[in-house]
This record gives sequence, structure tokens and C-alpha cells, in this order.
Amino acid sequence: MYKPAARTITFLSFLLFITGSSFSAVESPFEVGTWANFCQGAVSHTFDDNTAGQTGTAQPMFDAKGFHMTLFTVTGSMNPNWAKMKTAFAKGHEIASHSVTHAQTMPDAECPTSQATIRQQVPGEPCITIAYPNCNVPNPQNELKRCYIAGRICNGQIEKKTPSDFYRIGAIMGGSAGTNSASGFNSKANEAASSGGWLVWCHHGVGNDGHGYSNTATDALQGNIDFLDQNRNKIWTETFGNVARYIKERDAVSLTVKSSDNQSITVSVTDNLPDSIYNYPLTFRRPLPDGWTKAVVTQNATPVEDTIVTVNGKQYVMFQAVPDSGDVLLSSGATSAGKRYGNNSAGTPVRIALSGNVLTIAGIPASSGPVAVCLFNLNGAMLAEYQLSGKTPQNRFPLDDITASACIVRITAGGISYSQRIVTGSSD
Ligand SMILES: [Zn+2]
Repeated sequence: MYKPAARTITFLSFLLFITGSSFSAVESPFEVGTWANFCQGAVSHTFDDNTAGQTGTAQPMFDAKGFHMTLFTVTGSMNPNWAKMKTAFAKGHEIASHSVTHAQTMPDAECPTSQATIRQQVPGEPCITIAYPNCNVPNPQNELKRCYIAGRICNGQIEKKTPSDFYRIGAIMGGSAGTNSASGFNSKANEAASSGGWLVWCHHGVGNDGHGYSNTATDALQGNIDFLDQNRNKIWTETFGNVARYIKERDAVSLTVKSSDNQSITVSVTDNLPDSIYNYPLTFRRPLPDGWTKAVVTQNATPVEDTIVTVNGKQYVMFQAVPDSGDVLLSSGATSAGKRYGNNSAGTPVRIALSGNVLTIAGIPASSGPVAVCLFNLNGAMLAEYQLSGKTPQNRFPLDDITASACIVRITAGGISYSQRIVTGSSD
């Protein structure tokens, strides 16, 4: 009635894992975006020195568009307003370090101290990036490199798509000591897009907040935020920390196709970076498979952001996935809607039921031919595969080797797939 099929062990991905720290392997025809949503360039607006206008004037502009800013915070002076930092963090903004004392050149020892203070004052914020006071990089850099994944200087340059030194990320000065007009901000954003790079702005005071150094004009900032909102398909706006995460994940990620049929594709998305920090979604795409009119994408059985895009006249399914967060399942529209088998929409409804350790599948007409049954755990890993080759797929079989408490059953017959979550040990 059934026979266990061969298991596929992905030795390849294991070998990739052990051979190098910066090896990227995304299996064709999948691609990973250089920037999120396959934008051409990235922009981060960062703000130093805890000034009142940053949360009072600038943040509402970012919030109105759903953009995120980075607040490089001095933890031991300059009166950080922790209540406002917590509110900003809750809206997705990054609270990061700008040293403890704002010394001319910060001591390396202030790296863990400022991080610990931010973690304590803003629960949930890991504080993984830093901007050096006066743009002077500490020396030595032992604590710096232990505590942070990236550090900002201010060299007036747009960064490359992969910085040559993550502890010297370039930035351009915004405000009265640098660029302070919407047209100036916007033309640099266009330059980042045309060069495929990462533009980081270093701001201080905002509006007339009394900071006294290089205040950024409110209307100039608003004009740039409006421009970035109108150019979301071209320019990606995110925090300094999230862009740094994205770059490192993008350069380390492996994407491997684990299984596919004409209605679904299962891929693993992994990297070798610490998951506690590198948890930001990457954007992938692949051509929409032949015969698919739409796609539904899940990771770890949870829907992810996905969309169909047309590039040079060709349709792609574009989706987001976090490395090491479970397999990604791409399904044709027929899979999600196709709860009926047969030659037309009036076909018999399919029913999958579990009683004890016996799985029963009803509603598949014999004319559908052989029935493939796959069981996945909730991380998308295949547990078992069966081929029902009998003439009458009445489909009762024991789940002898399934110990998971819940799994996804996918049945494929007659060119149609249907998936359903079941809980083992239940009576139905
Ligand atoms: Zn400063």
C-alpha cells in the first residue's frame, strides 16, 4: 500500500557550512537582493548626541511614513531621555551607542559600558552598532569588535555595497555644517542608487532644538523623507543596524532547493551567523514558475511578505525570509485554494484526519492516479514521504516513525497539492 521513499540528505549545504564564513550560495534561479526589495541603494538617517529635536521633530516624520532612524546615544552625559528612547524603539527605531562620555577619542572600555546601559534602559534593544564621538575610531578595538557589528565614522563618502571595514562605515554630514537642503539630500540618495551603495547621514540637532552644532533644517529633512517615500522601489530606507545586518546576512546566506513539484517549492535558507543578532529578513526572488498565476510563501508555516513583480517583462515572485528560521515553502495559488480534487471546482473536498497514529485521506478520486504524501515538521523539514500506488487511494496508513506532536501533511495527486496541519495524538 505504501513504501517509504528515500530521504534526501543535504550534504551540500553541510559542506558549504563548514568551508567558509563568507561563502554565499543562492541556488539558481533564486536570487538574493543586494538591498531589501531589490532596491538599487540604501539610505540610513542617523542622529548623534541625544538632542530634543530628534525625537520631538524628526521622529514623527519617520513614523508617518513607517521609516526607521538610528539614535546614536551618549549614555553617561548629554541627558539621554530614556522614556523617549523606549517609545522610539517600540516604533522600530534603533537605539545605538555614541559612547559614555563623548571623549575626544572614546576609550575602548566604554564600548561594553554604553551597550549595557542601553540594554538596561531600553529593554529588547540589543545595541549592536556604534558611532564614534568626533568620528575618531577607538584604539585598541578589542571591546569594540566584541560588542558591536558595525561602527560609523564620517568621511563624506557613500559606502560600497559591502564595506571593506565594518568598523569604519562612511557617513556624510547633514545639517548646517554639511548638506542641509532637500535637493542636496535627494541627489545623494540618487547617487547611492546609481552606484548601488549605502548612504549614511550623520545628523545632530534637528530644527531649532538648541543643540548648537550643525542643526538639520526641518523642511529639508521632510523633503527628503517625502522623496524616499516616493522612491521606495528604488531606494531602501532603514536603520544603520538593520542595513549592516542585511549586508552580512546577504553575503553569508545559502539558499538550497529541498524539494519541488509543479505546485510547490521548498527551500532552506541558512547562514552561519549568530541568530540572536542576525534576524533581519533578506529579500529573494525567482521567476514565477510556469503555470502559476500567483504564489503563496510561508516560512516555518507562517506567511511571509511576498509579492509578484515584473522585471523586464518577466514575472517574479519576491519574498522575504530570515536565515535559519525554518524552511520556506512557495506554493502556487492552486495549492492554497485547491482544497478540492477532481477535474473541476466541483470535485470532492479533501479531508485529512488523524486518529491515533493512523492518517486517513478521503476525497481523492481514483482517477487522480498515484498519491504522494509528505510530512513536514513545523520548521518545514521533511519527516517522511510515502507513495500510495494502490488503485484505490483510500489512504489509511500508520505514522510509525513520526514523533512530532504536530506536522504538516502535503498530499499531491493528479497535479494538485493540498497541505494541512495535523496534531498527532488527537482523535481527528
Ligand atoms: Zn557626538
